[in-house]
Amino acid sequence: MFKEIGLKVGIEFHQMLDTKEKLFCSCPTLLVKEPGEAIIRRRLRATRSELGEVDKAALLEEAKGKEYVYEAPSKCSCLVEMDEEPPHNLNKEALEVALKIALALKAKPVDEIHVMRKIVIDGSNTTGFQRTALIALGGFIEVEGKKIPIQTICLEEDAARKISETDREIVYKLDRLGIPLIEIATAPVIESPKEAELVAAKIGQLLRVVGKVKRGLGTIRQDLNISIRGGGLVEIKGVQYLELISKVVEYEAKRQLALLDVMKELQRRGVTPDKIKGDIVDVTEIFRGTKCKILRNVIKRGEKVLAVLLPGFKGILGREIQPGRRVGTELADYAKVWGGVRGLFHSDELPKYGISEDEVSAVFAKLGGDPSRDAFVIIAEDEERARKALKAVVERARLLPIKIPAETRGANLDGTSHYSRPRPGAARMYPETDIRPVRVTDDLLKKLEKELPEPPEVKYQKFVSKLGLSEELARKILLSYRLDLFEKIVQKYSSVSPTLVASTIENTMKSLQREGVPVENITDEHLDELFAKVSEGKLAKESIPLVLEFIARNPSATIADALRELKLEKVSAEEVRAYVRALIDKLSDEVKERGERADKMLMGLVMKKYRGKLDGAMIYRIVKEELRNFLKLQ
Ligand SMILES: [Zn+2]
Repeated sequence: MFKEIGLKVGIEFHQMLDTKEKLFCSCPTLLVKEPGEAIIRRRLRATRSELGEVDKAALLEEAKGKEYVYEAPSKCSCLVEMDEEPPHNLNKEALEVALKIALALKAKPVDEIHVMRKIVIDGSNTTGFQRTALIALGGFIEVEGKKIPIQTICLEEDAARKISETDREIVYKLDRLGIPLIEIATAPVIESPKEAELVAAKIGQLLRVVGKVKRGLGTIRQDLNISIRGGGLVEIKGVQYLELISKVVEYEAKRQLALLDVMKELQRRGVTPDKIKGDIVDVTEIFRGTKCKILRNVIKRGEKVLAVLLPGFKGILGREIQPGRRVGTELADYAKVWGGVRGLFHSDELPKYGISEDEVSAVFAKLGGDPSRDAFVIIAEDEERARKALKAVVERARLLPIKIPAETRGANLDGTSHYSRPRPGAARMYPETDIRPVRVTDDLLKKLEKELPEPPEVKYQKFVSKLGLSEELARKILLSYRLDLFEKIVQKYSSVSPTLVASTIENTMKSLQREGVPVENITDEHLDELFAKVSEGKLAKESIPLVLEFIARNPSATIADALRELKLEKVSAEEVRAYVRALIDKLSDEVKERGERADKMLMGLVMKKYRGKLDGAMIYRIVKEELRNFLKLQ
């Protein structure tokens, strides 16, 4: 289906590197809890690019008029992060990691690394730009026999970390600013949600196997460029879980399809942009006595209820375009972003929320609209904001009959997305003159080439012949994002069967995910601890799915917590033996009567108490032995 609609996806993969120091200073690459001793405040103005254009996205940020507050923890920030000292030379360790990754991707490293400045407009960098350097071009990654070209590999500094945001200010912490990131961009040739997920997993795996990269939530981030035939080029930013990628792609394809349907329907109805007049009308009086709480409070505060008519839109705003999101929600996003309002009401969802049928009719009458054909939007807020928001709603509505706008969207945790800003223009890079270019010598590349890990074919042979994995499982684990973790655990816990490790990491996790368990919460540390318990004989393999599910639902818990909470703490064979003896004593008459055949009854009772706490075969052996001993003595 996705091929037929001309789905094209490109992935921009960002991974934090685990170097000792930041990219342009000697601060450690640490994220800290403490707020930071120093606080600085800045306001950002939309600067003209060297070509003299003012970026549309930059204007939006300026229009918000927010102040940026930066917390600077002394442990992991210095004058460089505060933009009060020029950047130091490019971190060599980070450069080598990036080059190694480039070589592993069969990309061609550039001869000389030049650091550039890329304008950022959301205040996430104290300098107003992000430093980035092109490391290599070309290369590819192979997924299920298809070569996905890599366009560029860059090394860049991470942005400051957003801590909070209100109407007036955004607070950032400088600990993350300057941590090296590698950015890998694929060509937009991915044709299905599944393929997007595989490509991302394969790139993620390669980074983990080759490079020094950070692990855990927030250390990878993907931006997805998604379009369908006749749709718009949409960039969805900030997908933090690999597990979410296929869903994000699927939902965006569906959103664009649904918007194409809306477009056709509006065209059929003869709606054109110029028919949407966009007159903003004050309808506060209609709601003086309303039962709607929100509107009542707004009016009490002396704010306004403003409305705008959307001719020919009846039924359109209520159409679902992503799970739980309607055309009305799209308009509401624009209202929120451009007007800073909390939301809107539209006629397709009314009467509801205490707004009565009569009030709806009165609004239609005031706007001169026809309830059988038209729709309206109302926003209740401080007048200036409400006007800005409604203007944005009208502008977005005018595009509905003609095109799907190119825009930048933010990923939601359920795989849907929301509008965040227009696509920034292209003229955003200029050279960083504070940093000298770095030559990439052949000697360096040769040295790095030697440090590359063994190729997958060699690993495959080893997994099958030395570790005893089935061919199928060996193939699966070679594709796994957690390949490196598998190798580490197998080496660390030699008493645990490699097949159990591989099938847990691959099969158990996947089947839990299919059951709707949030497996993205399970970290490498959890899995390491899990197999430590298995190797110590403290966890039976039958209980692994149960423990993982518990961890997924209680991510702050440890495996030890899970064993305790689930009452799975393993027992010793002696304890079970003592219990079996006591049980036989208690039920001696019945046991005598049944003789050898009492094993089934006893087994049932013992398993009820110790299932998952001791291997089932072991329990059966104990029951058999104790039963024989007892019968012999009779
Ligand atoms: Zn620093």
